[in-house]
Amino acid sequence: MATVIPNLYPPARAKLDGTGSGNWSQRGRWKIVIHTTETRGIPGYDGGQFAPHVTYWPKHRTWTQHFEFSRPAEAIKNFDDDRVIQLETICYSDKRKGDEVGGLWVGHLSDQHLDDLGTFLRWVMRHLDIPARWPGKQAFSPGEANAAGFRFTESEFLDFGGLLGHQHTPAPNDHWDPGAFPWERLLARLDQEDEEMFSRVLTKDTWGTLFDQGIVQGRSKRVVVDYWTSPERSDEEHRHATNVILRVIAGRVDEPLRNENTD
Ligand SMILES: [Zn+2]
Repeated sequence: MATVIPNLYPPARAKLDGTGSGNWSQRGRWKIVIHTTETRGIPGYDGGQFAPHVTYWPKHRTWTQHFEFSRPAEAIKNFDDDRVIQLETICYSDKRKGDEVGGLWVGHLSDQHLDDLGTFLRWVMRHLDIPARWPGKQAFSPGEANAAGFRFTESEFLDFGGLLGHQHTPAPNDHWDPGAFPWERLLARLDQEDEEMFSRVLTKDTWGTLFDQGIVQGRSKRVVVDYWTSPERSDEEHRHATNVILRVIAGRVDEPLRNENTD
């Protein structure tokens, strides 16, 4: 059973600017908490003090990593250390505020965005043996999130294995993000097998590109998946393969690799 995860997500830029002194507590089941930043660009998280493990930027479809997975992130209160992998998405749960500033509302995440999120989540879930499920109840306002009985109690939280929002985390947490996050659309992707995830893009052109880039030598779909998941690959090899594959999937083979973007 997989319980070890590489320190870095291959497609992410390893900024590693998170600050904090936590270590994994060994309490509870592995889980993933999803947040929205309520910003248009990548936040500084107060000098990294409140950073998640990774931030996904839908506008550019890029990933930034703030903490290695060998230690906790710092984006929730009190329970960061309890086997929680944390993901921030640059969008708004507060639709009114997002509309005012021309930001992306969480309910408007596209299928492509959810594919990107799904790829990351499945990578984490496979390594930490996290099941594809969520709490099944959703708060669409701060009031709903903080109504009696909505948030998990501490023991419910520790016992839960799966995906959840900041809004589901126990008090003293009081944030309601990720609001109207499209859980069902995401979960539909997480149920897919690895091969299906890639098979739709493995056209003749795709193969040509992957051959040219030295990513694959065989003709089987399995080769890409095996390459992607092989623990024998170095972080650098993973990053190269993943970047090429993701660019092929996105149809952006001719674009230079993007690492850091400004809004
Ligand atoms: Zn949050």
